[in-house]
Amino acid sequence: MSQAAEKGTLYVISAPSGAGKTSLVAEMLARDERLRVSVSHTTRPMRPGEQDGVNYHFVQREDFEAMIGRNEFLEHANVFGNYYGTSQVWVEETLAKGEDVILEIDWQGAVQVRRLMPECVSIFIVPPSPETLRQRLTGRGQDAPEVIERRLQEAADECSHALEFDYLVVNDDFEVALEELLSIVRTQRLRVEAQEQRHADLLADLVAGGSAYTN
Ligand code: 5GP
Repeated sequence: MSQAAEKGTLYVISAPSGAGKTSLVAEMLARDERLRVSVSHTTRPMRPGEQDGVNYHFVQREDFEAMIGRNEFLEHANVFGNYYGTSQVWVEETLAKGEDVILEIDWQGAVQVRRLMPECVSIFIVPPSPETLRQRLTGRGQDAPEVIERRLQEAADECSHALEFDYLVVNDDFEVALEELLSIVRTQRLRVEAQEQRHADLLADLVAGGSAYTN
C-alpha cells in the first residue's frame, strides 16, 4: 500500500492562554513522529527565548496584510491586538504527504478552519480551575500585571467557545492530559476511513477468503 496516497488528519487545538497547550503540543510531537505543527505568522513582538521560524514567523503588519491580500492564509485572526495566521500552502502540502498537522490557534481561527475543512478534528484544552490559570499566567513571568489581568479576561472569552470543539481535555496532570491527546490521535487513525486505504489488500483478501469458504 502506498502511504503517500493517504492524506493526513488536521487537528485544531485551542485553549486559553496558560492552559499548557504549547508544552502539551511540543510533547505530542516528541512522542509521535507522524505529527507536525504549523508555525504561524504573527505581527506580535518576539518574547524572550522565542526564535523566528521556530515559534512563529515574526512579520511586520504591512507584510501580514499583503499576505492576506494574496490569500496565503488558511485562516487568520486578530488576537490580543496582533495578527496571527496559518499558511495554507504549508498545511495542504504537509497533509498531502500523509502527515498529520496540528494547528495551535484561537477559537476564531478554529471557526474558519472548521468551515473550510469540516473533516478536521478539533480539541479544546482547559486548565483545572481559574486559580490554576492565574498561577500559570503569573508564573510565566514574561508579561506585566495589567497584561495578565487582560489575558485572564481573554481566557474567559476563549473558554466560552469550548463546546464548539469535538474534544475537551482538562490539563490538571500533564501526563494524563498528554495521554488523552495522544489517544485522540490514535483513535482517529483507527477510523474506517483511514484504515480502509491502509488495509485495502488485507480486507480484500479476507473478503475473498470468506467467499472461498462459503462456495
Ligand atoms: P501567543 O501570542 O500567546 O503565542 O498566542 C496568543 C493566541 O494566538 C493563542 O490563543 C494562540 O493559540 C493564538 N494563535 C497562534 N497562532 C495562531 C494562528 O495562526 N491563527 C490564529 N487564529 N490564532 C493563533
